[in-house]
Amino acid sequence: MAAPTLRQLDSPFQKIPLIQRRWTNSPAGAMPLVGPLIDSFGRIHKSLRVSLTDRCNLRCTYCMPEEAAFLSGEHLLTGRQIGEVVEVGVALGLDKIRLTGGEPLLRKDLVDIVNQLGQIKGIRDLSLTTNGILLKDLVRPLLLAGLNRLTISLDTLIENTFSRLSRRQGLDRVLEGIAAAKDAGFQGTKLNAVILKGINETEIIPLAAFARENNLTLRFIESMPIGADPWDRQAMVSGQEIKKILEDMWGPLIPEPNQNPHAPAMDFHFADRLGRIGLIMSVTRPFCGQCDRLRLTADGKLRNCLFSLQETDLRDCLGSSSDGNELKLRFRQSVWEKWEGHEINSARFLKPERTMHAIGG
Ligand code: SAM
Ligand code: SF4
Repeated sequence: MAAPTLRQLDSPFQKIPLIQRRWTNSPAGAMPLVGPLIDSFGRIHKSLRVSLTDRCNLRCTYCMPEEAAFLSGEHLLTGRQIGEVVEVGVALGLDKIRLTGGEPLLRKDLVDIVNQLGQIKGIRDLSLTTNGILLKDLVRPLLLAGLNRLTISLDTLIENTFSRLSRRQGLDRVLEGIAAAKDAGFQGTKLNAVILKGINETEIIPLAAFARENNLTLRFIESMPIGADPWDRQAMVSGQEIKKILEDMWGPLIPEPNQNPHAPAMDFHFADRLGRIGLIMSVTRPFCGQCDRLRLTADGKLRNCLFSLQETDLRDCLGSSSDGNELKLRFRQSVWEKWEGHEINSARFLKPERTMHAIGG
């Protein structure tokens, strides 16, 4: 395949012959230099998750180690650099931007970043994922700055379980943040929950009841092998198991009509229409075939998959002297080289060196 040279910097994995392994079903052809961001399997990319920091005020066991080495400030993209990357991505067809981390609310210039991104024409959906700890006081500034939607992580309603899972305290602050988001008038707020056997599986019904009472969408994410500890597949509670538990309690979950085929969640509602449920079955029902997502790490590396072993550095082609062409080329090349799937269920799976908090969830 003839394609412009890609500069993949700083990845210890560059020497591993991955491309051959991952590309076995890739159709031959040259990377297009015009048109949408398309990969070699024909998937058009519309969505970018932007990590604002790898730091976090929690230490969720499934996400990161207790002791993490964080990026120092000078390695983080500035707000202006983030704006530059997003603007070029939008010019290439991205229209869905999610701010994440680490914990994005730790970023002091967060409201300015949202303000800046909110002015980029072509963004259809500007959202943010947070653990909610610092949300209460930031809800209104974020809404005024132009944020469209919030996703708040909530794995439990019990403080002891919260501190066991997150190695920190603060459930009451998360709940205050959720209430504040509602009071401020945020629409379409979602809750994310990761359920682990023996830890919070008894929370499935209480969390769903909470979502129903507050008319929120609760999404259950299957635990993925992207944390610091060795992944225990047996500890994962599958989407199907969760669905059965919910249906035993409230009756059949009815699939939402007109689901976005590129959204990771399969969405359902209950017959009484109180609350909604999303099942993100990345492990038991991978949605790689419909994936339209890219990720930008806080230090400016573009990743074409959460489980990618290679990254494309964007940072060194940012700045006033750049005409944007090199940046566009790197976007295109990264997307073109995307693997067919994440391989979690195959013997070929290799866990990326970065854990979730350092990639951007
Ligand atoms: N700190 C913010 C938060 O917790 O919402 C944003 C970043 S966090 C990495 C984004 C989402 O990734 C969270 O909802 C979290 O539950 C999820 N997550 C983290 N590690 C995961 C794993 N190993 N498997 C599945 N989901 C995970
Ligand atoms: Fe922090 Fe979010 Fe990871 Fe929990 S899931 S440790 S809140 S980044």
